Amino acid sequence: MHEMDCREVIKHMAQYLDRELSTKEQEEVQKHLGECGSCANAFRWENSMLILVKNCAGEELPKGLTARIFDSFDCCE
Ligand SMILES: [Zn+2]
Repeated sequence: MHEMDCREVIKHMAQYLDRELSTKEQEEVQKHLGECGSCANAFRWENSMLILVKNCAGEELPKGLTARIFDSFDCCE
């Protein structure tokens, strides 16, 4: 099975946050983020930026989504 490398994960990150990836791609990104500290950090930044943007736009993130994302990182700090 093809595994995403850091460049691919970064490339897919925005789509991942917008949930525009296929289930398989989402799993690949998630798996990589769980194993790669630098991508996990980058992801955290992108995610908080996205939240800021959505707040400014007056949109709310789906409930539970953010919590789920942050939960998945607690184990790999
Ligand atoms: Zn990486």
